Amino acid sequence: MRRPEELLERCYVDSPDDIDLEVIAFEAGLEVRDRALTGCEASLVGYGDKGIVTVTTGVSPERRRFSIAHEIGHWEQHRGQSFSCRIEERALDKAAKSKEREADDYASTLMMPTGLFKEAIQMNKGSVSLSLVSKLAATFRSSFPAAAIRYVELSGEPVVLVFTGVGNARRWTSRSRRVPEHLWIKTGIDGDSFASDLVHATELTKRQGKMPAEAWFDSVSEDRNLQEHSIRFAEGIYTLLHLTDEELLEERMSAKRAWRNRE
Ligand SMILES: [Zn+2]
Repeated sequence: MRRPEELLERCYVDSPDDIDLEVIAFEAGLEVRDRALTGCEASLVGYGDKGIVTVTTGVSPERRRFSIAHEIGHWEQHRGQSFSCRIEERALDKAAKSKEREADDYASTLMMPTGLFKEAIQMNKGSVSLSLVSKLAATFRSSFPAAAIRYVELSGEPVVLVFTGVGNARRWTSRSRRVPEHLWIKTGIDGDSFASDLVHATELTKRQGKMPAEAWFDSVSEDRNLQEHSIRFAEGIYTLLHLTDEELLEERMSAKRAWRNRE
């Protein structure tokens, strides 16, 4: 297996604009085809050291890029197997060691390499915001959620990304290492949160500002606040919670309370 960094180096990538996924796929021995697929968004079929990636037609360019990167991830890590994938740009459970998760992680690093992504954060210096995430998504030609997940991983900020789906889309969260594990995200959407204002809003409507931490977390003191940044997309609401209150990061609840409030 070649790591994403090795493939990027072989393709002389040293800026986000250089990340051409079809060139990278070719370098890896893959041909990319666009065909209408039913029941999945992308597939991989390999023959020896050559393979074919098929991406369904009618998806956005960002999603197409992610699909190609995901299949390169399967090719490099799970050689000899064929895949039909429903590509979901969501944070998969860190504990679940699935091949889909491994392919997603690979795709994320290939599209948004650690060094280049951190540089882009620095260049756009400024505090945590939805517009910063949108800029990063534009720079790396990725979707908003894919860039937001990478931002949570690499920014070094105490942030949590919460996706609240509408319709059948399920809720998921992704938190940075700086957010202590004893802080439990509440299930469901709190009526006081900005996100709750967006349930019936039109696409790309934003709400942001100071919010009591208890609107998002279980068992936190009433006087703790955070910054909530929420935005409505067709599939649901993405919320970036910035834990600006140092004491919120330090406070620990008793083990008994933690047990009672476990997810
Ligand atoms: Zn897959």
